[in-house]
Amino acid sequence: MVGIEDRGYQFSDGVYEVCEVRGGRLIDERRHLLRLVRSLDELRIPMPMSQAALAIVMRECIRRNRVSNGILYLQITRGVARRDHGFPPPGTRPSIVVSARNIDFAGNERAAADGIAVITVPDNRWARVDIKSISLLPNVLAKQAAREQGAKEAWFVNGDGHVTEGSSSNAWIVTKAGKVVTRPADNAILRGITRTVLIDVIRAQGLELEERPFTAAEAYGAREAFLTSASQVVMPVVRVDDRPIGNGAPGSVATALRAEFHRHAEWS
Ligand code: PLP
Repeated sequence: MVGIEDRGYQFSDGVYEVCEVRGGRLIDERRHLLRLVRSLDELRIPMPMSQAALAIVMRECIRRNRVSNGILYLQITRGVARRDHGFPPPGTRPSIVVSARNIDFAGNERAAADGIAVITVPDNRWARVDIKSISLLPNVLAKQAAREQGAKEAWFVNGDGHVTEGSSSNAWIVTKAGKVVTRPADNAILRGITRTVLIDVIRAQGLELEERPFTAAEAYGAREAFLTSASQVVMPVVRVDDRPIGNGAPGSVATALRAEFHRHAEWS
């Protein structure tokens, strides 16, 4: 049951997390829970249960839904209270929802083998997208615009002409000189957990990383492009705004990083 006056339902007043489930195990659970606590703290929403209890709920959810390869979704809102924009009375219990489902693992692998297309759209989001809030309307519209143009993802471009991130992923390029570039984790992007772990993989592979903003024009001329998220891991991007990237096929760096990722992730 969802209360009709749930603050998430009425105000998008809540946060969420998505963890990959692989072989029935949670990937990077610790880091996802750390980010969850940070998002809650930023919005002054109390944690509805202890982290130890939450860890048990998450496992039970995976077990009952028989998820082997998929995602676990977790959402916490400020709770149910008479509609009023200001915070509800102290003691209002936050609402929590945990769900899990299998995803098309083979389909994901096929997409990675072919590479995907992305479009660019203006970044019209609020100034605190570092908080993983459930308020995702610009992301919803951006993803839909991508689909309607035959692409899988939309990259937001801010007023300076820089790519910030995707509607549900972080954005990366590999320059002609072989440097891996992604925007620094400021308030203009979500600090992706996949992004954080991938930085370890990049260093371990001896690749050069540059955390700096890049433009759409730089992406068009890049040797490779790719995106990262818990559900897609490392996904090669082969077209940006209908321009082929590199030779128009998944690049060797993105492919190698995808193959290596789970050796560096935490399994629990
Ligand atoms: N940026 C946005 C806007 C996202 O929604 C997501 C994931 O859903 C990411 C980045 C990637 O984050 P993660 O790697 O933690 O899944």
